[in-house]
Amino acid sequence: MPRPVRASIDLAALRHNLAVARRTAGSAGVLAVVKADAYGHGLKRVLPALEAADGLALVELDRAIGLREGGYGKPLLLLGGFYEASEVPLFAQHRLIAVIHDAEQIRMLETAQVSTPIDVFLKVNTGMNRLGFEPARLDAAIQRLQASRRLGRLTVMTHFANADDSRGVDWQAAALLKNGIGDGLPRSMANSAALLRYPAFRGDWVRPGIMLYGSSPFPEVPAESVDLRPVMTLETKVIGEQKLKPGDRVGYGGTFVAKAAMRIGVIACGYADGYSRHAASGTPVLIDGRRSGTVGLVSMDMICVDLTALPQSGVGSRVVLWGQGLSVDEVARACGTVSYELLCALNSRVSVVTLETAAGRR
Ligand SMILES: *Cc1c(COP(=O)(O)O)cnc(C)c1O
Repeated sequence: MPRPVRASIDLAALRHNLAVARRTAGSAGVLAVVKADAYGHGLKRVLPALEAADGLALVELDRAIGLREGGYGKPLLLLGGFYEASEVPLFAQHRLIAVIHDAEQIRMLETAQVSTPIDVFLKVNTGMNRLGFEPARLDAAIQRLQASRRLGRLTVMTHFANADDSRGVDWQAAALLKNGIGDGLPRSMANSAALLRYPAFRGDWVRPGIMLYGSSPFPEVPAESVDLRPVMTLETKVIGEQKLKPGDRVGYGGTFVAKAAMRIGVIACGYADGYSRHAASGTPVLIDGRRSGTVGLVSMDMICVDLTALPQSGVGSRVVLWGQGLSVDEVARACGTVSYELLCALNSRVSVVTLETAAGRR
């Protein structure tokens, strides 16, 4: 028997989530965000389910070129743009759209030996203080770009820091809109959270990522209540069992101490598979469809789980770590992180199966 840990990727769920984004986007173009190998789901694998997107956005230049070489013809936005001058001709050659967020990148564009113009998303820092030009400097950047014969179409872009919490986006959108920054140019602002919560700021191109994979962008809102379905289900099996007496300890460091007699299962999944070592004891798992929790520290290849209340379960029982029936958002909270980090961390040693239709679900 192969090691039982596996991830299944439900393409029907992904299509459904994209349709939700599509519907919410109204007339805006949808750039499906597929950085980090489609948030750990496998870019090649999910591509057929992203046909309804108007284009893709990612960070990795080699993957974007791979998409072009594989025949992908729609817009491809590189969210960090180019990092060195030598990359600029590749943007022209493969018709890649570059985010430009810094004067150094304008200089690279101005001096590049390219025969076809490059489309640009010019990034404004409206308060996140990560990438982007200060609003006061944007007009100068626009003029410089427009003076370059290497510029194709120009779009103004910003990124929201608090679209998922109570601070919201108005304060950032105001910084963009009040000075008429980039008036007359197309705009791109919304990530998943802003797309779902602030339809007024959809702009011309939206950039949903996490919602496509079925995770809720909002800490307090379950994914199903915004009509999102989990795409990745990480599952494994119980491969061992132990009976504990009161006072017995479990795992490295013996951090878990049994208060009463217990039966625990050992499951084939650990941090080397992508499960977080920050999962506290009691992090939820589904065993034969019933909820239970982890016991003790996560080790490299194994986790212990509580079987005490599940007398029918034991070696061979199916365990869902997250996905169908157990939200990755809930697991992420118990790990002190966000779903993004758990999904992206899926390790290449986990075998992955693709489910084409909802009927393929077990
Ligand atoms: C990752 C990313 C997105 C997608 O964000 P989600 O929260 O996953 O929807 C959008 N825009 C930019 C610039 C990003 O880096």
